[in-house]
Amino acid sequence: MSAAENLSLEYRPFSLDLAEPLETADGTIASRDGFLVRLVDEADDRDGAGDEAAVGYGEATPLPGWTESREDCERALERAQAALQTGGPSAALEAVDRQVAARHALSLALSDLQATRESTPLYRYLGQGPMVGRVPVNATIGDGSPDETVAAARAAVDRGFPTCKLKVGLRSVEADVERVRRVREAVGDRIELRADANEAWTFEEAQSALAGFADCGVSILEQPLPAGALEGHADLREESRGVSIALDEGLLEHGVDAICDAGAADVVVLKPMALGGIDVARQVAAWLTELEVAPLVTTTIDGVVARTGAVHLAAAIPDVPACGLATGDLLATDLGRDPVLIEKGSAVVPQAKGLGVSDVWGDR
Ligand SMILES: [Mg+2]
Repeated sequence: MSAAENLSLEYRPFSLDLAEPLETADGTIASRDGFLVRLVDEADDRDGAGDEAAVGYGEATPLPGWTESREDCERALERAQAALQTGGPSAALEAVDRQVAARHALSLALSDLQATRESTPLYRYLGQGPMVGRVPVNATIGDGSPDETVAAARAAVDRGFPTCKLKVGLRSVEADVERVRRVREAVGDRIELRADANEAWTFEEAQSALAGFADCGVSILEQPLPAGALEGHADLREESRGVSIALDEGLLEHGVDAICDAGAADVVVLKPMALGGIDVARQVAAWLTELEVAPLVTTTIDGVVARTGAVHLAAAIPDVPACGLATGDLLATDLGRDPVLIEKGSAVVPQAKGLGVSDVWGDR
């Protein structure tokens, strides 16, 4: 990065209302609270009028159980601001090394700034080799009665989604298998069905769910057992009858090497906010691919800046399976206009330079 001494970092707090309350490790939350980050390179602003300065945006949206607290995030951003002045981008990244949400914001802003300088969309700046301008995405269907679940799945299919992910694990295994069976009957064989249990089950319950889901042609069962149960997931894979096992919560607990050594997953879910940035997530994705485990990308229900970053990340991963990136409507308010169009089960990647978000700061 050139002219590091002219970079300045600003951040401001935000609070985005959720469309529906969200259950987290720390209880129910009604909003996603975090910090919008802006990097400005005044060296690019030759006439000092502000309109020429190169700008990069980032977002830190902590989530209990997945990242540092909001307070620790703010302190980390404060440290990054100071470190940037004295030591440049690498010192700033080092100052937030252990605060994943703060690091996510800073590294995203640095990547956005650099891609903007190079007049290239972020995914092309990130990626190597063939890249696609569209990322397949899944519809996410929450817990509901069988009738509600069927109606939501039909609506998703009508909107063109070829993949639906159903939340399971809040009712009995028998009730969940019945919900999935009803959906399969309603949507036919052309739709890919996945299920996410968010650590809900014992091994025996997961075994029984797996057998029922296999009969319904479920493609992926995500995190059936608690995050700690690495061997349990490996054992489930032995009898999965064609259903792939995905780990999500388990990634943070164990890391890629332990998961792969144990043979605990066919698929691993990457959340850039929880991993410390799209740069880190991209390295993890490459490592997983090398070990023949499929990476897929989702978010921690973030604002438009982080969501768009995750879309660019997914577009830079070769042959990425359908990702959990159609999450914008889980927020009732947002940081700005969403540049990502969701169209027939794909996220259309913005082709503007950098991230492609423009109106989030408001005063430029
Ligand atoms: Mg999950």
